[in-house]
Amino acid sequence: MTDHTSLTLDPTGDWSAFRALGHRMVDDMVTHLSTLDAQPTWQPIPQAVRDALAEDLPMQGCGAEAAYESFREHVLPYPNGNLHPRFWGWVQGNGTPLAMLAEMLAAGMNPHLAGFDQAPAIVEHQVIDWLRQVMEFPESASGLLVSGGTMANTVALATARYAKAGFDVRTEGLQGAHAPMAFYGSTETHSWASKAAEFLGFGSNAFRAIEVDSDKRMRVDALMSQVEADRRAGLNPFCVIGTAGTVNTGACDDLLQLAQRCRDLRLWFHVDGAFGALAKLSPRFKSMVAGLELADSVAFDLHKWMYLPFESACVLVRDGDQQRNTFRSTAPYIAKQARGTIAGGLPFADLGLELTRNFKALKVWMSLKAHGLSTYRQLIEQNVDQAQYVKSKIEAHPALQLLAPVPLNIVCFRFVDASLDNEKTNALNQELLLRVQESGIAVCSSTILGEHFALRLAIVNHRSTLADFDRFLQAVLTIGEALLAKGL
Ligand SMILES: *Cc1c(COP(=O)(O)O)cnc(C)c1O
Repeated sequence: MTDHTSLTLDPTGDWSAFRALGHRMVDDMVTHLSTLDAQPTWQPIPQAVRDALAEDLPMQGCGAEAAYESFREHVLPYPNGNLHPRFWGWVQGNGTPLAMLAEMLAAGMNPHLAGFDQAPAIVEHQVIDWLRQVMEFPESASGLLVSGGTMANTVALATARYAKAGFDVRTEGLQGAHAPMAFYGSTETHSWASKAAEFLGFGSNAFRAIEVDSDKRMRVDALMSQVEADRRAGLNPFCVIGTAGTVNTGACDDLLQLAQRCRDLRLWFHVDGAFGALAKLSPRFKSMVAGLELADSVAFDLHKWMYLPFESACVLVRDGDQQRNTFRSTAPYIAKQARGTIAGGLPFADLGLELTRNFKALKVWMSLKAHGLSTYRQLIEQNVDQAQYVKSKIEAHPALQLLAPVPLNIVCFRFVDASLDNEKTNALNQELLLRVQESGIAVCSSTILGEHFALRLAIVNHRSTLADFDRFLQAVLTIGEALLAKGL
């Protein structure tokens, strides 16, 4: 009798052809990674490629080989560029060859990381414990790997909301007759804060943006007055966000002072350390984020200044029970058992929103084991030293102007000429930015500082050398002068 139930997605007919295809994929990616410098940092996508990618919904499959060919031809050559040694746009890490393979192993093993009694869960607990030690949080802290800084910060803010509401926010939500809750951060706080305020039901008005000083650090006196005024006005202030490494300029708030003030005022102290928290690794720079270890919670990315592939970030909460109490849920179909596969329950699902989670920890675990923490320390120091190098080059050149202090790994500057007013300078630099990107030589991004349009480098790149920055600055000058000569 024919078995009509034998359909599968495994290549059962020809595992050896599949194995050969897999080897080719690895070979091609290793070639890609080992020849990055010869590739453009970014290139516009030709219309023919866009057309080729606009396909009808495939009803009949073309087979793995043909699908892979489409990828090789139409996808691989047109990335946003973040792998490249001359990419410093936004804050995007490179990823690493080893972590790429770890991702393959994680996907191949495909374990369910809600919890379960399995070695991958032990690996995740281990990784969290290592990261806890890096951030000098107590053993009683909880932690979770999540997709990115936005999610890590949002999980922390949800925990703060639960811990500090003063009523049972899990059952009542924000629907009851309670004083409106308010939380605080500097005007330089990343845009996740407003998004999270909306998502968690506070509304974005609940985020109170506090002014900064000339070094872009939150003015603690202004924070104190705002909290006081809000309390007088009947609001319920519950949380202060200190930033370790602002996205615009890399400024670090005075975390030590904020920790003390929050303790006095009985406010939750959260630190957004998306990339800056990793300064903890360096004896040279850790004093910049002193006080981070006193926070009630901290969020940081591993896909920025730990150079790991997307997506990877971590949230740590000092009092682990608060995080568990915020998120734990039960249902008969996921109940814990004393023995068997679900012994130990679903500890990771109990710490955040997601139930099904992938094996994010493997790439962190393998990378830390293979390279050692000291390599990351050196790379972070290398990036900060590179930022100082670029800063000194900018300061030494009459056509370049530094636009903000460079405390860490972010450099903001612009091309200038005595013949241009600020408005024309802004327009020229806007065009300059796009032409540098389109040249394929390098990618930086931009921001607005006061009245100034700034070219901005965020250096979280383990592949850059000083020669790469020289090439970039040369391109800025050449293109800037050409624009100037043409009257823009
Ligand atoms: C990048 C960044 C975020 C957001 O992190 P994602 O991983 O992009 O979600 C939050 N805060 C700061 C300071 C950042 O630099």
